[in-house]
Amino acid sequence: MENKTTAEALKEKLFYTPVHAAAKLPAAEIAAADSFCEGYMRFLDAAKTEREAVNEALLLARANGFCRYEPGTYYPPGSKIYYNNRGKALVLAVVGRRGLSEGAKISAAHIDSPRLDLKPSPLYEDSDLALMKTHYYGGIKKYQWTTVPLALHGVMVKRDGAAVTVTVGEDDGDPKFVVTDLLVHLSAEQMKAPLSEGVKAEDLNILVGSRPFDSTEAGQSVKLNILNLLYEKYGVTEEDFLSAELEAVPAAKACDIGFDRSMVGAYGQDDRVCAYAALMALLDAEEPENTAVCVLADKEEIGSEGNTGMASDFLAYFIADLAKSEGLEGRTVLSGSDALSADVTSAFDPTYATAFDKTNVSFLNRGVVIKKYTGARGKSSASDASAEIVGRLRKRLNDAGICWQGGEMGRVDLGGGGTVAKFIAALDVDVVDMGVPLLSMHAPFEVVSKLDVYSTYRAILEFYKD
Ligand code: MN
Ligand code: MN
Repeated sequence: MENKTTAEALKEKLFYTPVHAAAKLPAAEIAAADSFCEGYMRFLDAAKTEREAVNEALLLARANGFCRYEPGTYYPPGSKIYYNNRGKALVLAVVGRRGLSEGAKISAAHIDSPRLDLKPSPLYEDSDLALMKTHYYGGIKKYQWTTVPLALHGVMVKRDGAAVTVTVGEDDGDPKFVVTDLLVHLSAEQMKAPLSEGVKAEDLNILVGSRPFDSTEAGQSVKLNILNLLYEKYGVTEEDFLSAELEAVPAAKACDIGFDRSMVGAYGQDDRVCAYAALMALLDAEEPENTAVCVLADKEEIGSEGNTGMASDFLAYFIADLAKSEGLEGRTVLSGSDALSADVTSAFDPTYATAFDKTNVSFLNRGVVIKKYTGARGKSSASDASAEIVGRLRKRLNDAGICWQGGEMGRVDLGGGGTVAKFIAALDVDVVDMGVPLLSMHAPFEVVSKLDVYSTYRAILEFYKD
C-alpha cells in the first residue's frame, strides 16, 4: 500500500499528464470562457472572408481607441495603432512602456479560410439551369462542399473602377446557393471512385438560377435573367466578374455544439479562432512593457503568398517604420522580438484514431496547444522552434496557471501542414506555433472547445504582458 502511494506521488511528480481544463479551472473561469465565446461566435458570423475579418477587427479596434498608423509619426507608450494592408490583412499594435527598444511581442494569425472562389468567367447556362464555375481556395475535401447551403461574399470592380460589395445568403430571407451531388440511386460508379475523385474540382459548380428572362426566347435566357437581376441590384455586367473576388462560403451560422454547449461549431474557425483570440488579447493588453503587435494575415491557406500574405514584407516594413520613429533600427528590433504563430492544430478524433499518435496529439479541452513544429515529410516547411523558446513560453503559461498541452498534428508521413511561423522566423524573430485544437479542419463546419478558445486568449494575453 505504502509502495503504491510512493509510486503515485512519484508519478505525479515525474509524469506529463495533461488533464481536462474543467478539472483545473475555477468555475468563474469556465463561465468566462463561455461568455468569451459568445463574442467569438458573433465575430465568426460577421467575418466569413478575410475582408470581412479586417472590417470586424477594425470596428472592435476603433471602439477600443485604436487609430490609423501614420508612417513617420512618433507614437508614445500606450498608443494604439493599426495598419490596414489593402483591406485584406491588418497589423495592430499597442506601444509598450519600453517601446521597441527590447523588441516587440508579435502574435500572428490568419483570416483567410478554405472556400470556393468563383472563376473569372463563372456564369453559364446548361439545360435551363444557371450555374457558376468555381476554383477552390486552400485544401478541401471536395465532396464535403456539395449539398451545403452556400452564401456568396466579395467585391466586384466595375468597368468604371467603382467597387461594389456583394453579400448574398447571410440575412434571413436571403436566397442561398448550392453545389449539387449525384443521387445515390445512380451513384454506383461514383461510389467506387476514391474519395478524392468522387467529386472533382470541375464538378464544384454552384446552382444560381432556373427561370428564364423570357420564356419565348431561345438560348441562354436563364443566364440572361441572372445577369439582369445582378445588373438591377449591383449595376454589374458579365465582364465585371473578371475583376472580382467572389467567395462561396457555407451559409450556416456559428452555434453551440453538444447537449452541454461545451463546443462551438462554425465555418472558418481555422484560423479565425486564433485571430479573434489574438485580437482580443491585444485589445486587453493594458500598457504592456514591450510593444505588443497583432497580425491578421491573408493567404495562409495558399502558402502565405501575395502582398497580403506573410511571405510579403508588410510586417517587416511596419516594424521598421515604427522603429525608425523611435530612433531604432528595424532589423535590430526584429532580431530582439518574440512571436507566436497563432494557428489551429488537429485535435484527436476517436473516430479516426489511427490517423494520430495518441501520445503526441492534442485533445479537445486540454487547453491551448504549443507546437514545437508543424510541417510534413520530416518537418519540411516547419519553423521548428528551439527548446529555449518553447521553454520560455511553457514557463510563462505554467506560472500563470493557463491550461496548455503539447502535440503535433498526426501520424508521421500521413500528411501535415504548415503555418506562418516560417515566414516570421525568416525575419530573424524567435517564433513558436501555438493555437486551438480543432475537429474537422478545413470542412465547411469545424468544431472547437470553448475552454480551449479561452485558454488561447489567456495565453496570448500573458505573452503580451511583459
Ligand atoms: Mn490555419
Ligand atoms: Mn488551414
